[in-house]
Amino acid sequence: MLNNVLGIDFQNTFARDLEGLYKKGNSCKCPSAEVLLLNKSLSLELGIDLNRLQSKNALDIFSGNIKPENSITLAQAYSGHQFGQFNPNLGDGRALLIGEAINQKGKLIDIQLKGAGQTPYSRRGDGKSALGPVLREYLISESMHVLGIPTTRALAAIKTGDQVERDGLLPGGIMTRIASSHIRIGTFEYARFHKDNQLIKKLTDYSIARHFPDTANVENPYLAFFAAVCNQQALLIANWMSVGFIHGVMNTDNMTISGETIDFGPCAFMDSYDPSTVFSSIDVNKRYAYANQPAILTWNLTRLAETLIPLIHEDRNESIKLLTEVLQLIKPVYTNYWLSIMRSKIGLSKEDQNDIEIISNFLEIMEEEKADFTLCFRSLSKALIGDGQTIRALFNNSRRFDGWMMIWQERISQEGIAEEKIAASMNKVNPIYIPRNHKVEEALHEAVFKNNMLPFNKLHSLLQYPFEEIDGFESFKEPAPKSDVPYKTFCGT
Ligand code: AMP
Ligand code: MG
Repeated sequence: MLNNVLGIDFQNTFARDLEGLYKKGNSCKCPSAEVLLLNKSLSLELGIDLNRLQSKNALDIFSGNIKPENSITLAQAYSGHQFGQFNPNLGDGRALLIGEAINQKGKLIDIQLKGAGQTPYSRRGDGKSALGPVLREYLISESMHVLGIPTTRALAAIKTGDQVERDGLLPGGIMTRIASSHIRIGTFEYARFHKDNQLIKKLTDYSIARHFPDTANVENPYLAFFAAVCNQQALLIANWMSVGFIHGVMNTDNMTISGETIDFGPCAFMDSYDPSTVFSSIDVNKRYAYANQPAILTWNLTRLAETLIPLIHEDRNESIKLLTEVLQLIKPVYTNYWLSIMRSKIGLSKEDQNDIEIISNFLEIMEEEKADFTLCFRSLSKALIGDGQTIRALFNNSRRFDGWMMIWQERISQEGIAEEKIAASMNKVNPIYIPRNHKVEEALHEAVFKNNMLPFNKLHSLLQYPFEEIDGFESFKEPAPKSDVPYKTFCGT
């Protein structure tokens, strides 16, 4: 039966199939809520027409005031390793699944409210979100999406009209989050912690059916499922690395089985290239630094592997052996993805065994010179269309850079493709506009403290076309002024 407000035929598969992994809950009410952002194109993908999206009733759903008919609203249970330490009792403390929709491609999609009040897993938290982090997640997740990086999406951002207590009182917000599911490595860890092999099996069967149906038909579906998750996550991290993205809290409860980026806490894009960059103020040991992300990928997937031991083989040792074989493939699989994306960033479509050295040397010079990651890649293509100065100006030690350029240009000439064509294809993978931290902060400050959404909307619109240079937006492609560095964000979002 169609839901009257959104026109969605809500499914309740998680509630139906995964008892033990959720508790039912309700949102709090926000009578003075107002809509700040609605995502029209995403709405159409979900089959919600624009009249419905913009209706007062939709606002009431997105602000928690009315519960969608035909839908079982619930908070999901999960555990997780946070900065390496196991915490059995996490769960959706400030998120509520309000329904599952079938999108235009026939795929099941979660619709979740984030910040709509306490749930059975809130522990001592208020279950709410401040408006700033809601807008931040909206902006960055939608920017990731147009950069071609798998991510949860943002359907709506609401200003609740209430205040939340953080370090002082702040305006509250609710984000409507869309995900191909919210199943995390931590969801599996929860089932394992409760020593419930039946629950692990139910969860894995559900995840296979929802995300990797092809693996159901092979000899060992559970092992194939694990390999598929490893593959998706390796691809995800390679994508992050290729745009200088630092997630900031790669805890196992923040890593999805689907391979979508989730939970944009202290995440940010790097300006000047420094592999040891962290943005989270609480990550004092730099566990989640940019350069550590591929190693953490394997660490996290090892935690997932541990949960699957009972399913893979009746002999525990054989199970561990099989899972270990897959784990050992993560690094080479990741490196292949990374290499392939990085090749395209420097204009190479053919493969040569020296490519990795050319890419690594470029990064090394960038690091030595503290050059801007995004600008370096973007400016490189200009050298192929008669402007070698723009890229050269980014490097003080021009002698080392010139040496590298000669080797790169020699390699480019082996491609046998017109240089203008190579330059054009480089510009399709090297964004000119990313959510620069200082621009994001500026836009959020205006929106949250001055009720002025104009800078946010301007930045958001620009980020919808990250590969097209637009006149009049020069300041958006520049890194932060030196006084804004070092940049830190806070986890308590
Ligand atoms: P995060 O750091 O956002 O990944 O959240 C870690 C855990 O804390 C998750 O279980 C969240 O649901 C929970 N949490 C975060 N903020 C709140 C809040 N304001 N109220 C209740 N639980 C929260
Ligand atoms: Mg989280």
